[in-house]
Amino acid sequence: MNARFASAAAVFLDRDGTLIVDKSYLSKPEEVEFIPGTMEGLKKLVSAGFRLVMVTNQSGVGRGYFTLADVEKVHARMAVELKSMGVLLEAVYVAPEAPDQPSCGRKPSPQFLFDARDGLGLDLDRCYVVGDKWLDLETGWNAGTRRSLLVRTGHGRQVEAENRGNMRGAVVVDDMGAAAEWILRDAKNGVKNEVKTGSSETIGSCAPKA
Ligand SMILES: [Mg+2]
Repeated sequence: MNARFASAAAVFLDRDGTLIVDKSYLSKPEEVEFIPGTMEGLKKLVSAGFRLVMVTNQSGVGRGYFTLADVEKVHARMAVELKSMGVLLEAVYVAPEAPDQPSCGRKPSPQFLFDARDGLGLDLDRCYVVGDKWLDLETGWNAGTRRSLLVRTGHGRQVEAENRGNMRGAVVVDDMGAAAEWILRDAKNGVKNEVKTGSSETIGSCAPKA
């Protein structure tokens, strides 16, 4: 791809247990509850020039518990709340498949990160992944992002305990707010992206290739 466009930095965000409280197969907008500190953290990242991209495995769709339309309603609610804080998710990627179903995007596949790189002109060397599961960290490693961060919200504390002493270079922080602080320190002088305006775009699921 044209290097001229490969200049933007993004933070790839897991959804459940990272941005919002993991309520196990959450499928209703009214169940959306942002984890304290999340909004403020995201706002700081946006102010520093980071693009925000949410990447979420929603196996509840593949398992037949709810539909992709339900997922999109949840994301619409999240977008409204985020917008009230001046925060835009520039892209949202959903892998709706169950773990045993073919999927080109289900984490830890790096495919959605590659798609976002191509779509938004991202430099993955300057991007970060934040999540509460090992597969989130792996997704970042598989895509070649600068760093994967584990939050201690959601499943994070358990993941940290299970992998103590072998975090493979992942950064462990208390929550999304702390993740944002860490990323901003790491990126030091800011990422100087152009400020983008416009509405959040749901790219949706990546259909398995025939
Ligand atoms: Mg999660």
